[in-house]
Amino acid sequence: MEKNPSIKCSIKNCRYHNQNENYCTLEQIKVGTHEAHPKKIECTDCESFVLNS
Ligand code: SF4
Repeated sequence: MEKNPSIKCSIKNCRYHNQNENYCTLEQIKVGTHEAHPKKIECTDCESFVLNS
């Protein structure tokens, strides 16, 4: 899959990861949170993640 040079990502076990380089292949992603009041980087999630099977 073609990388999207605007979205860097290191999550290699995601279906949308470009395995050769650290980029996402989606045209866009959605970032969200699992916290009520996010205060740290750890509070943010890529909600477009899908486990690479
Ligand atoms: S969908 Fe999210 S986690 Fe998956 S490769 Fe793209 S940016 Fe990374």
